Amino acid sequence: MKVRNYNTICQVGKENDALLLGHVSTPICLATAFEFPDTDEGARRAEDIAASEFYGRWGSHNSREFESIIASLEGAEEAVCASSGLGIISMVLHSFLMPGDHVVAPYACYSESKILLDTLAQQIGFDVTYVESHQVEQYIRETRSNTRLIYAETPANPTVSLVDLSKLAKHSETLENCILIVDSTFASPINQTPLELGADIVLHSATKYIGGHSDVVAGVAAGRSELMGKVRKTFSFHGPHLDPFAAWLLTRGLKTLALRVKQQNANALALAEWLHNHPAIESVSYPYHSSHPQYELATRQMRGGSGMVCFKMREGRSTALSLVSNTNLIKMAVSLGGVRTTITHPASMTHNLLSDDELVDAGVAPNLIRLSVGIEDADDLINDLSQAIERDGK
Ligand SMILES: *Cc1c(COP(=O)(O)O)cnc(C)c1O
Repeated sequence: MKVRNYNTICQVGKENDALLLGHVSTPICLATAFEFPDTDEGARRAEDIAASEFYGRWGSHNSREFESIIASLEGAEEAVCASSGLGIISMVLHSFLMPGDHVVAPYACYSESKILLDTLAQQIGFDVTYVESHQVEQYIRETRSNTRLIYAETPANPTVSLVDLSKLAKHSETLENCILIVDSTFASPINQTPLELGADIVLHSATKYIGGHSDVVAGVAAGRSELMGKVRKTFSFHGPHLDPFAAWLLTRGLKTLALRVKQQNANALALAEWLHNHPAIESVSYPYHSSHPQYELATRQMRGGSGMVCFKMREGRSTALSLVSNTNLIKMAVSLGGVRTTITHPASMTHNLLSDDELVDAGVAPNLIRLSVGIEDADDLINDLSQAIERDGK
């Protein structure tokens, strides 16, 4: 794995200063149309779908700046951003799937990604085969001659199971016209760079770690220019454009991404270790904890375990529900990746749109709890969980 100077990402962006006035922070440019110096230039920009100086739905200086930083973090030629994570997933699927195509995707993934795949499969007329999210051999076995897209999410929501991306990429390359797409939201670009492992497109709900402050909804995909050009074209007529202010917030969030994620990695590992040793906890799942069944893969494919920790209460669903109600510092809320630690009961909250059978397939047990660990002091988080578990027992 390459060692990167991620903290220096805070310097990126200044060269995009549109007004060349040397702003240390990029100005927000709200203009939706731009005066052309002459007819030739007007025609040139109309042909260039990536022009941010043409029309607001095609992007802004602020969205271009955000995209260029993501592309450099992911080692991609280009990135395309959208007004939500699901919006960018939808644009990617619409760009590459045709009637009669086949997709392989995991049971365990963000629940609305699965609902989107199922809906588009019916509307467009492609087939989806679902597999166990961590079983790379199952993905490989289920691909067919018409498989155009392999969809992976690693670590998976909410179980933090992993899939071996290098193996998946090697197999995908042997198929004609097949692309490997990886939802890397749980890892953030600091902990994992799927393109370096052979994936074709990496995508993120930027609402999570990339924004990092629970105040902006956005999505981004990155990959080769040839693929991103297709996504940008689909995007330009579907229209899920990212507002310049949202792009500016994301760019601001990126300046501290490396610092935040390093602290979240360290806190999450400390919590995983503490939970692992607690008698009220049946099991804990954290990619960088040695008890994770794919620990060896985690250390090969990720640079850190990220801030997502899952655990099961020994006493079942009712203790799980009272634990999430009993924390004080740790807030009961959905979403993830923010600076504040949050706690969720996936079966009743993030994954309640799934049927009982789908919950079983996705590994969402009734006693499962998901933590999104923030940047607080680890001791404060442990004390809060400790008092909440003790109250459970009374
Ligand atoms: C949140 C999330 C999404 C969807 O992103 P939005 O920004 O909410 O649209 C997709 N994948 C994963 C893994 C997520 O956590």
